[in-house]
Amino acid sequence: AAAAAPAAAKLEDADALIDSVETFIFDCDGVIWKGDKLIDGVPETLDLLRSKGKRLVFVTNNSTKSRKQYGRKFETLGLSVDEEEIFASSFAAAAYLQSIDFPKDKKVYVIGEEGILKELELAGFQYLGGPTDGDKKIELKPGLYMEHDEDVGAVVVGFDRYFNYYKVQYGTLCIRENPGCLFIATNRDAVTHLTDAQEWAGGGAMVGALLGSTKQEPLVVGKPSTFMMDYLAKKFGITTSQICMVGDRLDTDILFGQNGGCKTLLVLSGVTSLQTLQSPDNSIQPDFYTNQISDFLTLKAA
Ligand code: PLP
Ligand code: CA
Repeated sequence: AAAAAPAAAKLEDADALIDSVETFIFDCDGVIWKGDKLIDGVPETLDLLRSKGKRLVFVTNNSTKSRKQYGRKFETLGLSVDEEEIFASSFAAAAYLQSIDFPKDKKVYVIGEEGILKELELAGFQYLGGPTDGDKKIELKPGLYMEHDEDVGAVVVGFDRYFNYYKVQYGTLCIRENPGCLFIATNRDAVTHLTDAQEWAGGGAMVGALLGSTKQEPLVVGKPSTFMMDYLAKKFGITTSQICMVGDRLDTDILFGQNGGCKTLLVLSGVTSLQTLQSPDNSIQPDFYTNQISDFLTLKAA
C-alpha cells in the first residue's frame, strides 16, 4: 500500500503561509459564503491579503451562474471582486471549448442551468437545450422516434434542477450517434448544500445519468481536474507552487490544489469537519487546516 500522506497541520502562523505564496485561490461556497450568507470576517481578510499585494482568485464548481452573475453576488455581499477574478465551472466549460478551437459552426447541447448558456453565448458558441428543455415530455406511442441535431459536437452537463428524461435521451443520442461528439462535465460533486437542512444531489447526479447511458467518461473542467488550474496559471503567468488553494472540500478543492502542485489549506467553515479530516478513511490531507479564513487576521506565530 502507498504510504499515507502526512497529516494536515493546524495552521498556527498565518503570516508565514501568506508570505510564502503570491496568489490565493478561494473556493466560494463554504469559504466565502454559505448559500446567500457571507461568512464572518471575509471582507477584512480579503482586504488584508490585497494590502499585502496578493493576487486573489475565486473558483466555484457551481455552474448555475455565469461569472457576471457571480460578480453581482460578490457585490451584493459587499465584496469588491472583479469578474476577471472569478472562475466558475460554467465559464470553464466555455473556456475549454475555446481552448480546443471547438468549431463555431458546430453546436453545444446543454444539460444545465443559465450560467452555462450565458458563458457559451459570450464565447460565441451556438447552443441548444438548457432549462427550457425541462418542459419537454416524452409521450410514448408506437414507432416514436426522437430526432436530434447532427451538428451537436459537444454535450455539456452540469447541475440541473430541470433535469428530465428528454434531456438524457437527447444528450445520449448526440454522444452516441454524432461522430466525435464530446461529453463535458462542469463538475461531478456528489452532493451539494442547497439548504442547511440536508445534503442534496449535486452535479455528479446529472453527469452520472449520461455516463450510465453512454458508457463514456466525461471530460471534467471543474475542480478537481487540472483544466482551470492550467488555465489560471497561464492567464496570470503564475507558478502553481506560488499558489495557496483554500477550500472546504477534500475531494474537489484540496485535490484540485494538490493536482496542481499548490499549497493547500482546508477551512472547516463548510462541509468538512475536523472528524472527517482526521478519519482513517480519509486519504486526502491538505498542508494546513483552520476554522475559517478570518483566522488569517488573528493567527500569529508565538
Ligand atoms: N454545485 C452546486 C449546484 C452548488 O450549489 C454548489 C454550492 O453551493 C457547488 C456546486 C459547490 O460550489 P463551490 O465549488 O463554490 O463550493
Ligand atoms: Ca466549497
